[in-house]
Amino acid sequence: MNIDLYSRRVDYLRIAVTTRCNLACSFCAPKNYDCCQGLDEELTDDEIISIASAAASVGFKKIRLTGGEPLLRRGIDSLAAQISNIHGIEELTLTTNGSLLENKARTLFAAGIKRININLPSIDPVRYKKITGKDELENVLKGIAAAKLAGIGIKINVVALAHLCEDDVVALAHFAEGHSIKIRFIEYMPLGVDPLVESLSIDTLRGWIKKHRLKAEIIAAMNAPFCKSCNRLRISASGEVFPCLFGSPSHYLAGSLNNDPKQIENILLEAVRCKPAGYADAYTCESYRPLIRNIGG
Ligand code: SAM
Repeated sequence: MNIDLYSRRVDYLRIAVTTRCNLACSFCAPKNYDCCQGLDEELTDDEIISIASAAASVGFKKIRLTGGEPLLRRGIDSLAAQISNIHGIEELTLTTNGSLLENKARTLFAAGIKRININLPSIDPVRYKKITGKDELENVLKGIAAAKLAGIGIKINVVALAHLCEDDVVALAHFAEGHSIKIRFIEYMPLGVDPLVESLSIDTLRGWIKKHRLKAEIIAAMNAPFCKSCNRLRISASGEVFPCLFGSPSHYLAGSLNNDPKQIENILLEAVRCKPAGYADAYTCESYRPLIRNIGG
């Protein structure tokens, strides 16, 4: 059963399909990150499909493809199409930085991806470049337009860093509202990156949203954790299984399993049983902290 020790039904799998990324966001990438370099061996398409099929067999209903930057993976659209055809998978989504989306939006929609989350840390070109290390804002905006045109539902993710100012928050929320797109400000999680990066105070953010009557959601993963309703397992690009974003991997799913469905199902169910009650438990027990870039947030 995909019910864990705390009675949570775990039916949402996030699969990182690559560790490579074409951006080096300050909240995600380590300092001096070489954005073209993959860190580990990546799971093959066959392995990912075996994992997704096994997950569906044990009750997982939703899969999100993430990374790294998932649109850098060659053949991502055909991989997505195969996953969305798996019996039992009701929803396939994707998280992207949007910079490569313009030319892929239509094929992704045809492949079954009806909703995507787009990481948009600023809509000011200079600040965007400062945060991401790249001059890609225009391409991201084109990607957003193309995804809308293709019929894909979009949510914008903004990691709320300390240097985000009131004007940035207002501009981002107005941009989203003007395009009828939902926007969420996500509290910064200290997952193994630059120790100098800090989160914006959630109270400050809340104050600005109220003051300007902005239509925006806040995801305060650290201040108001939603562990009690966490329904996720995560698979890294190299096949590690993470019961909690803040803990170490409980299992490893790759070549040696020979894509044996039963063995993969058992591992997924064991990982469900390893889910800690809350992230604080995973945090304190572990010396190894994963990089969010390897497991996809
Ligand atoms: N390349 C894609 C992207 O940029 O969205 C997918 C990978 S990225 C790791 C997935 C999401 O994780 C990002 O959209 C961002 O919202 C979130 N994220 C990354 N680092 C984070 C951090 N330190 N704290 C909170 N959220 C973070």
